[in-house]
Amino acid sequence: MLEYQAPERDLEFLLFDLFEVQKAWQDIPAFADFTDDLIRAVISEGGKLAREVMTPISQQADAEGSRWEDGVVTAPSGFREAYDQLAGGGWLGLSGNPEYGGQGMPKLLGCLLEEMFWGSNTNLYLYATLTVGASICIDAHGTEEQKSLYLPMLYSGQWSGAMDLTEPQAGTDLGIIRTKAEQAADGTYRISGTKIFITAGEHDLTENIVHLVLAKLPGAPDGTRGISLFIVPKYLPNADGSPGERNGVASGSIEEKMGVKGSATNVMNYDGAVGYLVGEENSGLACMFTMMNYERLSVGLQGLGAGELAYQQAVRYARDRLQGRAPGGPQNPDGTADSLLVHPDVRRMLLTIRAYTEAGRAFAMLVGLTLDRGKYADDRDSQALSELLTPIAKAYLSDKGFESAVLAQQVFGGHGYIKETGVEQIVRDTRIAQIYEGTNGVQALDLVGRKVLRDGGRVLKRFVEYMSGETVPDRYRDALSAEFDRLGKVTESVLARSGDDVDLPGAVSTDYLELAGLTIYAWLWARMVEVAGDDAFGQAKQQTADFFFARLLPKTLALEQSIYADSSAVMAMNDTTF
Ligand SMILES: Cc1cc2nc3c(=O)[nH]c(=O)nc-3n(C[C@H](O)[C@H](O)[C@H](O)COP(=O)(O)OP(=O)(O)OC[C@H]3O[C@@H](n4cnc5c(N)ncnc54)[C@H](O)[C@@H]3O)c2cc1C
Repeated sequence: MLEYQAPERDLEFLLFDLFEVQKAWQDIPAFADFTDDLIRAVISEGGKLAREVMTPISQQADAEGSRWEDGVVTAPSGFREAYDQLAGGGWLGLSGNPEYGGQGMPKLLGCLLEEMFWGSNTNLYLYATLTVGASICIDAHGTEEQKSLYLPMLYSGQWSGAMDLTEPQAGTDLGIIRTKAEQAADGTYRISGTKIFITAGEHDLTENIVHLVLAKLPGAPDGTRGISLFIVPKYLPNADGSPGERNGVASGSIEEKMGVKGSATNVMNYDGAVGYLVGEENSGLACMFTMMNYERLSVGLQGLGAGELAYQQAVRYARDRLQGRAPGGPQNPDGTADSLLVHPDVRRMLLTIRAYTEAGRAFAMLVGLTLDRGKYADDRDSQALSELLTPIAKAYLSDKGFESAVLAQQVFGGHGYIKETGVEQIVRDTRIAQIYEGTNGVQALDLVGRKVLRDGGRVLKRFVEYMSGETVPDRYRDALSAEFDRLGKVTESVLARSGDDVDLPGAVSTDYLELAGLTIYAWLWARMVEVAGDDAFGQAKQQTADFFFARLLPKTLALEQSIYADSSAVMAMNDTTF
């Protein structure tokens, strides 16, 4: 059975010791009320909700799935009550705009809470994350009227959000969507077409659903410059804000999937549905990116939460399961066998999960902090850094989350393949994080193409300089400095070769993203050990860091060599030979 405890001690360490949040926020008056005591209370309450309300209904939701009947979608049992608790406790409006009922909480805190909610129940939290994302988009690009109407309803969880982008022929390439929008005499728009794969597009958890739909106006420019964004509510709001007439938007079916079975993934049909323009005509994709960037970090946090959940199950099992004897002789002579924890290979698996998860947590918080500083302290460097780090956060956190889930399943042996233990569910539920919200391949292209090549590697170089200037323990200094040099050299090489070799960025981007991820994690491990002290907690940090430097970081050697290969290695084969 799945059990989950929020990693409260680690969260407090990162907030108060590593990032020293009160110092980091001192020039942000909006955060003055977030005292250490308040932060501790929020972590503790969030952890309780995750443990006591969300975790116990996770496996049942997987078994039951969402159900579709005549356009009506029913979420798994227990979801409505749990969602009401998420909403009623104010957890959906945490980082929301206080002018409209949000709590204006720092993104940094939002990240750690999201990790808990994803970890404890991915299926349920999928409904919530789309709601939070929709509110961020409307807050950034909506009219005053749209904000006053929709934001309070989304923050309170009475209404939920959905993000309607994908169509059968248009996934990664949104420039070729076919959904149409035409302006009506009253200034609103009529939306027609079909979308697929719409998470939380239809369900019974809330009284209304606010779809953010991408569509094309007649005569709009081709490609991504001709896309507009519309609010399409399931029920048209009355003047007093209550849900009124049913709009022409309905679920045609839901998908049968490998995982996240409790989250309804809908085909959505729009039959002249009333839509309200968000932002300017033809500037919809830029507006949607506000939501997509939030969702990208959030999906990275899905991977992180899964890694923590997987670790907790695997350690519990490894401790209890007696199998074989330690290489150096019995450790449990009175028992039938020793615990799995004596086997070096099992320890390797557990330490790998732990090393990626704890560094990943620090990394996610760093991204949260850069977002906060960019937004509230008007700190341009932080803003640019958050843009550089977002694709890494989405892809690297979800890749490592999935890897961790598979490793945890391996620790369970055959029992990891059996439903009862719950670990196979973590594997199935986490796999999607590498695919949706822009595949991890596309995140890597974004990193290399848009974030590194476009500015000649300027933001990356500044970040490497910043990392190099931080104090780290002697034991890691040389290794870390070699990694910074490697990342610099590899970046120069990609910059120099991409002009003549147009396929190069795409050919090396996934390896480049992993190299960047490993380098950043190495720096974070060194920094964590530097500030951790030498109590039992600090010793565990050092032991995990030692493992990371000895066993995981050397992968950069192979990645470097692979990046130096030119694109012909992947481009030479004819299409017909495949
Ligand atoms: C469970 C689930 C939930 C989802 N939820 C939503 C949702 O709420 N809203 C929504 O709008 N969509 C949603 N999606 C859709 C999801 O975001 C897309 O499936 C995803 O972005 C990939 O698009 P695609 O499936 O069309 O793949 P394709 O775009 O066809 O890509 C196929 C492969 O080609 C690669 N590829 C494609 N283009 C390029 C390129 N230019 N360069 C390099 N490689 C490329 C991709 O990386 C991938 O490996 C969901 C999907 C699933 C399965």
